[in-house]
Amino acid sequence: MLKKKEIQVEDILLSLFARIEEVEERVKAYIFLDKEKILKEAKQERKKDLSFEIPVSVKDNICVENEPTRCASRILEGFKPPYDATVIKRLRQVGAILFGKTNMDEFAFGSSTETSAYQITRNPWNLEYVPGGSSGGSAAAVAADEAILALGSDTGGSIRQPAALCGIVGFKPTYGRVSRYGLIAFGSSLEQIGTLSKDVRDSALLLQVIAGFDEQDSTSSPLPVPDYLKYLEKGIKGFRIGIPEEYFISGLDKGVKERIEEAIKVFEGLGAKCTRVHLPHSKYALAVYYIIAPAEASSNLLRFDGVEYGLRKEEKDLFRMYEKTREEGFGKEAKRRIILGTYVLSKGYYEQYYSRAEKVRRLIIEDFRKVFEECDLLLAPTSPTPAWKIGEKIDNPLQMYLSDIFTIPANLAGIPAISVPCGFSEGLPVGLQILGRSFEEEKVLQAAYAYEQSTDWHRQRAKI
Ligand code: GLN
Repeated sequence: MLKKKEIQVEDILLSLFARIEEVEERVKAYIFLDKEKILKEAKQERKKDLSFEIPVSVKDNICVENEPTRCASRILEGFKPPYDATVIKRLRQVGAILFGKTNMDEFAFGSSTETSAYQITRNPWNLEYVPGGSSGGSAAAVAADEAILALGSDTGGSIRQPAALCGIVGFKPTYGRVSRYGLIAFGSSLEQIGTLSKDVRDSALLLQVIAGFDEQDSTSSPLPVPDYLKYLEKGIKGFRIGIPEEYFISGLDKGVKERIEEAIKVFEGLGAKCTRVHLPHSKYALAVYYIIAPAEASSNLLRFDGVEYGLRKEEKDLFRMYEKTREEGFGKEAKRRIILGTYVLSKGYYEQYYSRAEKVRRLIIEDFRKVFEECDLLLAPTSPTPAWKIGEKIDNPLQMYLSDIFTIPANLAGIPAISVPCGFSEGLPVGLQILGRSFEEEKVLQAAYAYEQSTDWHRQRAKI
C-alpha cells in the first residue's frame, strides 16, 4: 500500500501508536518510545532512497544516536550514544523509521526478560507467562502488533527463543554476516544482530538491509550478500535435512515434540529427504557456553565503572566510586555472570575452565562441519518447552540456563539459524528451528519460507 501511495508512512506510525495505546500497558514491550520525535522524523525530508520506509523497533542494546540505550540496566542510566550502530545507519539510509527501544534482560543475560531493571514484559499469548528472552521486548512487540519489525541480538538464543515463545519468526544470521559495531557487547565471539518479524519474507527483507561487510567491525565478513528474496520461492525439493538425535532429550515437552515431528512430515511432503544425524558433543554445549559467555561478559562489562558511561555514584576515592557504581548499577544476574567469568579467567583456573571450554567448542564446531557434509540443513526444536509462568524460574538460574539448550550450539559454531512458528502446546506457541551452513542464510530462509507457505501458524495472532 505504501508503494502504491495508498497510505503514507505516518499512517503506519499512527496505527502502531493506536495499537500501543490499546495493549502496551499490559504487554510492556517498550522501555523508550518518543512518539513526537518519531513523527517528526517521518515528516522530515529524509534520504532520497525510501525503499524501506518501515518502522523498525530496536532492542535496547543497539546504539541509536542521542537516544537512551541502556541494555535495560541501571548502570547505563543517562547514557545516550553519540553515534548510530552500523545496522541503524543502514536502516536510515533506506528510509526506515527507528521506532522505540524494546525491553530485554539486563545486558542480554537471561531467557525471560525478567532481569530487566525497568519492567517485566509479558507474553501476548498469555499475560501471566514470560515472552522468553533476552529479546523479549522485541518479540512481544511484534507478536502483539505493536511493531512491524524488530531488531534483536542473539548470543545464545536471545532472538530465536523469544520468537518461538511468542509465535513469531526470529533469525540469527551467521557470525560475521551483520556488523556488531554499535551493539553493546556481551559475548563478542558468540553474538549477532538479527531479525524478529511476523513472517519469513519480512525477516529476509530486513536482513537484506542490515547484512554485509563493515570496516568498523573486524569480525564482519567481506563475502557478498545474496539477494535473499530471489531464493524464497525456490522450494526445497531434494534438500537433505538432518534431524539431530541429541535434540530430542528426555526433558522435551510432549507438545513441542509432537509439533516438531509434524513439521518434519511437512518437509518430507515438500520433497526434502530427512534423516537422523548425530552431533555427539552437543551435550557439552551448555556447559561450554556458560564458561565462555560469562568470561567474555566479565571482560566486556569492565568498562562500566562510573567514569565513561551512565551511572556514577560519588564516593571518597576512586576505587570506592567504582565499587559503589557497580554495586548499585548491576542487577543480580549481571553480578553472577561477572563473578563466574572472572573466576574462569583467573590464574590457576584459566587452563582448567576457559581454555578447556574453547577446546570443546572446537569439537562442537567439528560436529556441525561433519553433518553439513551430508545435509543441507538441520531441523530441531527451538526451545525444549513453551513459555513458562513469570517468576517460575527466576530464582533457579540453572533451570533458566537449560532453556537455551537447543539454541546455544549455533552460537558456539557461528552458523545461521531461524525459528518459525509450528503450532501450539497447551495454547502456547512452539518454534521450529532450522539451522544451516555458515553464510548460507538464503537456504535457511528458503526452507523456512517453504514450510511457512504450507502451514498457517504464522497467521495466527495473539488475542489481546
Ligand atoms: N539466555 C542466554 C543467556 O542468558 C542467551 C542470551 C542471549 O542470547 N543474549 O546467556
